[in-house]
Amino acid sequence: MTRATQQPRGVTLLGSTGSIGLSTLDVIARHPQRYRVVALTANTQGERLFEQCLQYRPEMAVLLDPAAAEELRAKLRAVGLTTQVLSGLEGLTTVATLPEAAIVVAAIVGAAGLLPTLAAVRAGKRVLFANKEPLVMCGHLFIEEARRSGAELLPVDSEHNAIFQCMADGFRAGRAPAAVRRIYLTCSGGPFRSTPVEALARVTPEQACAHPNWVMGRKISVDSATLMNKGLELIEACWLFGVTPDRVEIVIHPQSIIHSLVEYVDGSVLAQLGNPDMRTPIAHALAWPERIESGVKSLDLLEIARLEFAPPDRRRFPCLDLAYEAAAASGTAPAILNAANEVAVQAFLDRRIGFTDIPQVIARVRARLPAGRDVQLDAILADDAAARAEAARAIAVLERPVQQGVR
Ligand code: NAD
Ligand code: MG
Repeated sequence: MTRATQQPRGVTLLGSTGSIGLSTLDVIARHPQRYRVVALTANTQGERLFEQCLQYRPEMAVLLDPAAAEELRAKLRAVGLTTQVLSGLEGLTTVATLPEAAIVVAAIVGAAGLLPTLAAVRAGKRVLFANKEPLVMCGHLFIEEARRSGAELLPVDSEHNAIFQCMADGFRAGRAPAAVRRIYLTCSGGPFRSTPVEALARVTPEQACAHPNWVMGRKISVDSATLMNKGLELIEACWLFGVTPDRVEIVIHPQSIIHSLVEYVDGSVLAQLGNPDMRTPIAHALAWPERIESGVKSLDLLEIARLEFAPPDRRRFPCLDLAYEAAAASGTAPAILNAANEVAVQAFLDRRIGFTDIPQVIARVRARLPAGRDVQLDAILADDAAARAEAARAIAVLERPVQQGVR
């Protein structure tokens, strides 16, 4: 059967108003014969969600807050749209499991995406994973549930999508690839790669969010500045590719052109290259095993001319060691690390603590809260909550007027 005679595949987009959400809609809009938007969701951005509903006419839309959802419902009714508006976690779970949605894009930021994404996996969907935090917290659970339900768990995080593309024998989440010696995760180094270490304590949220190569949401931008993003990605890679942390190497590559590499036992190294634009991994995971146009411009190798590599500076970026430690500790340690990081990053964005306080908060939480061995969902969620409370206490201790803006 040719594509032209097939029905477009339904897509639920969890987190449609964010950076990944917008990139996904851009790709989908290029392929109306292949994809149709079934549901869109957002946290609080009612106005943007309203505009997206006007453009994409989904069957359902979800806003987390019931009052905001009611407002959206009234506005949609006023313009004659029949989109059904839901709210809360229940609404997110409903749209993540809709029979009409063959594909669910997990693009909520942070642990908030865990339960709806898990529901999509349990419902056997093709799940495009941008939302890395739930994988960090309990990757084993996602892999197990995908095996059980037949869900396709496909990485969209650019590094993991690159590794997926470099898997010579194909990819299945959690399956250790044959004959792989090592995985290299590339890392731009973020905006503070060469900022003097003494100046880091005073950098502002605006400086931290000004990533040299990627335009992203604020949380992942700060993670990219502390390099915790690479730490989270290390743990994400271990689950997705069934490898231990010692087989994953982090390499600073300031140009962000090589998105990651896989080394095989015969000495071959496969890499995936492209302009730093999330529409490439999104289009790849949407259409896999086919390839579709993404809107990303061609890579101009002659213009780039140089590709550089360096080891990460672990003294400058203590978050990397914190992530390696949590990966080695296993159990609920990665969930504790992630929760402490989420709370610390928000406090930094709110100007309550300084940039270099972020790893201090995480280290304090890890020291005070022993990681559990039980990795069932309830235990993970309990330690996530305990870590958030502990991080709030650590922040209260650290909190002081932060003098920012001097680099
Ligand atoms: P973003 O902040 O731009 O967007 C987040 C989306 O999630 C928004 O639609 C927001 O309304 C929604 N949301 C936020 N909190 C929510 C909550 N409590 N409940 C329900 N919905 C909520 O973030 P982003 O940059 O698009 O990143 C999304 C995820 O993808 C993150 O986990 C990030 O690590 C990952 N990711 C992003 C990029 C990128 O280039 N932006 C690259 C790789 C991975
Ligand atoms: Mg990434």
